Amino acid sequence: TKIGIDAGGTLIKTAYIENERIQYRSFPSQAIDDAIKWLHDYFEKPAICVTGGRSQVLAKKLNVPAKTVVEFDATTEGITYLAGPQTLGRQFLFVNVGTGTSIHHVTDGRQERIGGSGIGGGTLLGLAYLTTGMQDYEEIVRAASDGNREHVDLKVKDIFEGLLPPISGDLTASNFGKAEWMREHKPSDSDMLAAIIGLIGEVIVTISTQAAAQYDTGAIVYIGSSFRSNPLLQDILVAYTRLVGKEPVFLPNGEYSGAIGALLAI
Ligand code: ATP
Ligand code: MG
Repeated sequence: TKIGIDAGGTLIKTAYIENERIQYRSFPSQAIDDAIKWLHDYFEKPAICVTGGRSQVLAKKLNVPAKTVVEFDATTEGITYLAGPQTLGRQFLFVNVGTGTSIHHVTDGRQERIGGSGIGGGTLLGLAYLTTGMQDYEEIVRAASDGNREHVDLKVKDIFEGLLPPISGDLTASNFGKAEWMREHKPSDSDMLAAIIGLIGEVIVTISTQAAAQYDTGAIVYIGSSFRSNPLLQDILVAYTRLVGKEPVFLPNGEYSGAIGALLAI
């Protein structure tokens, strides 16, 4: 069996062919030994290709030889495969929101990394822990869906009281900017989590759309496990990307792009 693996900072993603279809499975990166055991037990004669920041760590633990490929190129291959030929055009941007965030420009199938940010999925886990003590990802995103950002974030219209603002009053003037209000009305855990996701989404969409303007690309493909079970984050990226006239693209199984690229390299 052919198996492509993307060993990231937070999650190990695998893509393999079974019944003539690509199947997917992921493991937490701390559970690397469970992933290794599954690979050894589940597959007969595996042919493995690994990518990602932890590919060396994983390859060393395998009792079969494994090929390794460059993560950025594998991810580009995976995106192209998932999107299908031609759908993204000659050039596009992809933004990988993993533990951190990485922005890439692709022209005729070749990628160049053009930027990034330490604000990413890891920021959600870290700030969620510090503010609420929560540690379980699914619990965090579920709680965030009931939150009200207006209890935490300052909007433009909150500043321009009674005056017509020069930009949309609904834009965020200051993430977490309602300090004065919050001293009197402590926001709930859900409110804080929703505001954290808002902060992350708005930072990512700002740098991504600026890069898209600079490179004059139409589509911005957003990938990474940070979008799993997290419609709040997706909605922010969709709304603001469209606002500046760019097309947001979310690919089904997009978080497996790196693993698919590794699979295709075997
Ligand atoms: P990097 O590419 O930066 O090395 P990675 O490839 O491990 O990291 P992804 O798997 O794309 O990163 O995304 C990790 C993020 O996805 C986490 O920070 C978290 O916000 C989110 N996430 C989704 N599902 C889970 C989960 N089951 N456990 C932990 N985090 C999850
Ligand atoms: Mg990754």
